[in-house]
Amino acid sequence: MTVHPFAPSPSTFEVHNPATGELVGVYPLHRGDEVDVAVYAATEAASWWDQLGFAQRARRLDAWRGEIARGRAALAHVIHTEMGKPISDANLEIAMALEHLTWATRNAEKVLGRRQMGSSLLTLDHSASLEYRPFGVVGVIGPWNYPVFTPLSSVSFALAAGNAVVFKPSEYTPGVGVWLAEAFTRAVPEHPVLQVVTGDGATGEALCRSGVGKIGFTGSTATAKKVMAACAENLTPVLMECGGKDALIVDADADVDAAADAAVWGALSNAGQTCLGIERVYVHTRVYEQFLQALLTAARPVRAGDDEAEIGPITMPKQVEVIRGHISEALALGARALLGGRDSIEGQFVQPTILTDVPDHAAAITEETFGPTLTLTRVRDIDEAIEKVNATDYGLGATVFSRHHGPAIAQRIRAGGVSINAFVAHALVPTLPLGGVGASGFGRVHGADGLKEFTYAKAVTRRRLPSPLALTTFRRTERVDAIVDTLIGILHGRSRR
Ligand code: NAD
Repeated sequence: MTVHPFAPSPSTFEVHNPATGELVGVYPLHRGDEVDVAVYAATEAASWWDQLGFAQRARRLDAWRGEIARGRAALAHVIHTEMGKPISDANLEIAMALEHLTWATRNAEKVLGRRQMGSSLLTLDHSASLEYRPFGVVGVIGPWNYPVFTPLSSVSFALAAGNAVVFKPSEYTPGVGVWLAEAFTRAVPEHPVLQVVTGDGATGEALCRSGVGKIGFTGSTATAKKVMAACAENLTPVLMECGGKDALIVDADADVDAAADAAVWGALSNAGQTCLGIERVYVHTRVYEQFLQALLTAARPVRAGDDEAEIGPITMPKQVEVIRGHISEALALGARALLGGRDSIEGQFVQPTILTDVPDHAAAITEETFGPTLTLTRVRDIDEAIEKVNATDYGLGATVFSRHHGPAIAQRIRAGGVSINAFVAHALVPTLPLGGVGASGFGRVHGADGLKEFTYAKAVTRRRLPSPLALTTFRRTERVDAIVDTLIGILHGRSRR
């Protein structure tokens, strides 16, 4: 058990292992004043960190990466005990997070550094340059389901861009956040460039109101709205990585076994608690029966349990009721359980459940379930599949299995990313941005967009020639006005349909 003495605090909160109920940690409930102290310290650290420049920062971020990699067994253990996923999955999560940290470190200067830009006929007398500057302090608010991969998608990129970070991990996984910050302090002992504040929603709200330069939020769509409201008071910009209701399309020409394998992993891994998790599957009628058999064969051996099982418990007790509600409502509306069903829930463990004949208006189709469940729907053609996939407010990701039509289908799906013939690959390729549209949020982590997300664009010009045409002066002559008038005609007046 960890009692973490981060700062004096009037109150604390407990963290329990969701599989066993065992107490695994006690952490301070940081309130407004303590959050403000952390942000104040971060402001001074930010200016040191910024002035180090890209190369010196990269050296230190590499040292942090080494600390995480060498400590991965301990970190995986904290993840496992706090939120329940199997150790091997926790290891995989750490590996993916390190890939993105490496990319951000290696590419920050190329993406954000100062570069010369072109000018135009009317501005030929100026040289132009562009660079992307850090905000100063960035607040990151994270969820518990991927407590390393998800917050680091913001933290790593914000740091590489030259910001200091105050990170508020989920109240279910504070130990993971504290572990990451302690590893950072070992690598960068000079200033508090990455700090952690622990607590619940009120701590997160205090961070939103603390005057940080930007908030990077990852969590549910409902909380995102509260975060935006709090940030609106100071016009604090926000990055919103919210929930999803991702679907898989299986086309008539798909590799059916590979699609079934992806469906099972995409829906059941992490006990279904994945923002990009597959919650709906739409299968072309020509391969429906074949897919159904392959799906059941692949899903039957997957068991929820502690330690040795393929999937762990549901982390949040209240989510169990959401899952139960979605399954019960679907069955009451005429759906059939091909696997699992009402009896699949025991305590905080939910056994894999596959539902079919679920009506389009059921919550199991329209709302984020966040459990190891899947709805299976037969479609007459791909047009119907795409119509159903897009008939949701969410737009995070999607998966398509098709030997010949993948790119064409992907183009018609309204989502921030689509993986063809694999599950979730677009979230793992370091050069690609990750994020959603609609109720899934806005802004991007990962890749060049993810670096720019934690900066503001700064444009600078420098006069390099005496002005041939003095435009922006009250001393402008009638001759200059006549030249401008002629130029407008030449440059723009000939454009027609
Ligand atoms: P949540 O919205 O309950 O909490 C997220 C974070 O917000 C936590 O740290 C919480 O303490 C904090 N918070 C709560 N109320 C707040 C408030 N009023 N002001 C500021 N902060 C507040 O989400 P969760 O249950 O931790 O995570 C699961 C959700 O996250 C799912 O909806 C999932 O889809 C989503 N998610 C999205 C992505 C993505 O990349 N889009 C990744 C992972 C998880």
